[in-house]
Amino acid sequence: MELSRRSFLKLSGAGIGVTALAQLGFTTPAYAADVELRIREAKESTTVCPYCSMGCSAIVSVQDDKVVGIEGLPDSPINRASLCSKGQAIFQVANNERRLKKVLYRAPGGTDWEEKTWEEAIPAIARLIKDTRDANFVEEEEIDGQKVKANRCEGIAQLGGAALDNEECYLASKFARALGLVYIEHQARI
Ligand code: SF4
Repeated sequence: MELSRRSFLKLSGAGIGVTALAQLGFTTPAYAADVELRIREAKESTTVCPYCSMGCSAIVSVQDDKVVGIEGLPDSPINRASLCSKGQAIFQVANNERRLKKVLYRAPGGTDWEEKTWEEAIPAIARLIKDTRDANFVEEEEIDGQKVKANRCEGIAQLGGAALDNEECYLASKFARALGLVYIEHQARI
């Protein structure tokens, strides 16, 4: 397009005029967004992302037993409303037909899984922990010809998860150390 000096000045004047009007508050009209939020009927609660040691917090919107929205929690000093792509995908942990909701037990050497209740599972897990700990507890060992107290259990390892908060980690590690465990690790470090 050919632009004469006169039309260039006219166009520049119009541009300056629009900018000046905008600075005075005369802008193009704003249109209200008429969008129905899909979380408008949902119930909100908060959670912690389970995927890494950052421990970002999220708001989870649930409707009809289904997660319909995930947002970063603005009140969290860790992530301040942001979530990485993994955090935005945590709804898949709940909305997942492969998620286990019952205790499944497979007997040693067995091939089939049986459903158990927590009332059956918890005492059985406690029994196995106690028996394994007692069978593998090292009370003393010899170092340079000297007998020294060891008081450790090398037969059990504990693995923590990033979804645990500070207080839960404190309790879990205290429990493990009370049993004498030395192999204590965290999912975010391996
Ligand atoms: S949102 Fe991302 S950075 Fe935050 S805890 Fe989850 S995986 Fe880690």
